[in-house]
Amino acid sequence: MIVDLVQRSGPVSRATIARSTNMAKPTVSAIVEELAAEGVLRELGVGEASHSGGRRPVLYEFNQASHHVLGVHIGVETTTAVLADARGHEVARAAVVTSREAPADVLASVCAAVGRMTEERGLAKNDVTAIGVCAPALIDPVEGLLVFAPNLEWRNVNIVEGLRQVNDEATIYVHNVAQAVLAAEYMEGIGQKWPNAVLLYEDNGVGAAIMIDGSIFHGVQGFAGEIGHCKLPGGQEPCNCGAKGCLETRVSVTAMLRRTGHEPNQDGTLHQQLRALVQSGDPRVKRALREVGKDLGLAASWLVNLVNPDAVVIGGGFLDAGDALLDGLIASIRDQGLPESVGGLTVQRSVLGSAAPVRGATLLALQASRRSLQRVLGSLRVPSLPLPE
Ligand SMILES: [Zn+2]
Repeated sequence: MIVDLVQRSGPVSRATIARSTNMAKPTVSAIVEELAAEGVLRELGVGEASHSGGRRPVLYEFNQASHHVLGVHIGVETTTAVLADARGHEVARAAVVTSREAPADVLASVCAAVGRMTEERGLAKNDVTAIGVCAPALIDPVEGLLVFAPNLEWRNVNIVEGLRQVNDEATIYVHNVAQAVLAAEYMEGIGQKWPNAVLLYEDNGVGAAIMIDGSIFHGVQGFAGEIGHCKLPGGQEPCNCGAKGCLETRVSVTAMLRRTGHEPNQDGTLHQQLRALVQSGDPRVKRALREVGKDLGLAASWLVNLVNPDAVVIGGGFLDAGDALLDGLIASIRDQGLPESVGGLTVQRSVLGSAAPVRGATLLALQASRRSLQRVLGSLRVPSLPLPE
């Protein structure tokens, strides 16, 4: 509570902390002294005396250099690692290729890149106290296990073990990418005016995230939101999950390219290819992407009827599909959703855009030290996730 308060309100005295937290002054003093000794809080000299006179209080501020955190977004094409200070400000980033690499090699490359980033800044391994990871996969957040990522073809990858080399004492949290993106949007993107929101997210595969009353809904095993593998009527196209006719086979970037009449590039540049097609302004491309939006809207209308959210947000590769997809999506939700639920609904793009996944991962790492984030990301409800001592 004290760290959270000092982070939010800047330099404060022990008396102010005691007042704001309803804790006894001696308790506050003891905790503040401990935090100052650990370097989490920094003494900032003395403030103004109160009106009634008396001693001028010592002020404390949060020390953003006290520790660092790492956010890692494992994408289908590229994995991005961001090193951030204790306030969450980015200090360095690195990217490694994911596609067609073995999971152990990708994670080893991330460890090596982080080693270089910390070394360049004169940081020790144990300065990185928490690591947040997100991936387009079914994730077991309790074990930190990537259970299945159809589009990476990864199964049962122990992410925690793979990243131990960064700092074997760091707290490591792993989440599904759509869940991490929606949390990032709520904290820093679309904002907190919509505490009940659903996100539709594309990164070769397709997933959703559901936020209820400002908390990400994980489901019993952490697998909530796998809308990409819900079946559309009449679909026969084989899906990377092993089934046929999944939504993903109609609206993934590969499907979008095929539906515009183009063969997908083989070199992992599918989203660039899609952006170039959209920029060309070709009316056939627009028509096809509007139809993609309508299929996505059918799925979204089920979510809207089930969850009754404030907002439907699209992110990831759906942002590369331009206005046509969004128009089709909105039209389809209006057509097929319950009018009473659709009435007050906002449908919009992710604000953080391509920055959202790694930001979500970084926030996941930061939640180790921030109470407000713990509430949003909801990992506290996963009992065996270790919190730092
Ligand atoms: Zn599937």
